[in-house]
Amino acid sequence: MRSPLTDSYEGHSLALYSSWLVCRPFHFMVDCGEGCATALRNRVFGLRTVALTHGHLDHISGLPSLLNARHAGMGDVDAPLTIVYPAGDPLLAPMRSYLAASQPAMEDKVSWRAMEPGERVPLDDQRSLEAFATRHAAFLTLGYRLIEHRTRLRGEFHGLSGSAIRDLAAARGREAISEGYDHPLAVFGGDGLAPDPAMVAGADVAWLEATFLDEADRGPLVHATMAEAVAVAAQASVRDLVLTHVSGRYQRADAKALARRLAIEHGLAGRLHLMWREHIELLSEGVAAADA
Ligand SMILES: [Zn+2]
Repeated sequence: MRSPLTDSYEGHSLALYSSWLVCRPFHFMVDCGEGCATALRNRVFGLRTVALTHGHLDHISGLPSLLNARHAGMGDVDAPLTIVYPAGDPLLAPMRSYLAASQPAMEDKVSWRAMEPGERVPLDDQRSLEAFATRHAAFLTLGYRLIEHRTRLRGEFHGLSGSAIRDLAAARGREAISEGYDHPLAVFGGDGLAPDPAMVAGADVAWLEATFLDEADRGPLVHATMAEAVAVAAQASVRDLVLTHVSGRYQRADAKALARRLAIEHGLAGRLHLMWREHIELLSEGVAAADA
């Protein structure tokens, strides 16, 4: 089944080899694994922000090709690019040295920004990426929340009719009767154990890693099982869950079957998708739709 998410997203996900995901409407990508520039070609010029979750090779090995394509490809080679990354990541330092040596012309077009958990980087007037800590390595690793800044009517005015609200707005000004709030359009879990449900709560779309179908296959506690990912998404009441980063040892049919079974077991209300290599596939419309 075609996933409606493919209108906005494209990428690749295979544990150990390459992870990257472009969000077209807001011109950013999360992680930059190998093959991204080859797949994107001239679309590399549409990017304004690269948000790195950590410096493991399968998440950053596409950076040299991405910068090379933006330097020598057919597009706006002067467009600025911001690369955000976990503060203190020991593996990004040598990659930055390589990029500086191999792409000296790109140096003044790329700004690097170290992120601590809770920090935000703006994407445009209404949206920003907010970093949160993940449990993956001995050094700081991050996930990101795509936050949209919205306004709504203050609670004390909820009982009023439309015309009364219009009169109030005219008399006192819109700011006096409204309040700002943050809505998570998407959460990108990055690599690691399943995130705290509070980081995922209420998100329209959650991209969560599900490396292991079988807990018995997991060695060190650095990646999530599919069951853990589905449990977090169910608890967080997301509208869409996309399972990513499945280990290459498994078959696609087995991953799909388990994902569907887990969604039912955990009462996942939202839609269920599987990101398998470059394919983002809709597996289920969710419990809410099935009940209707
Ligand atoms: Zn990793």
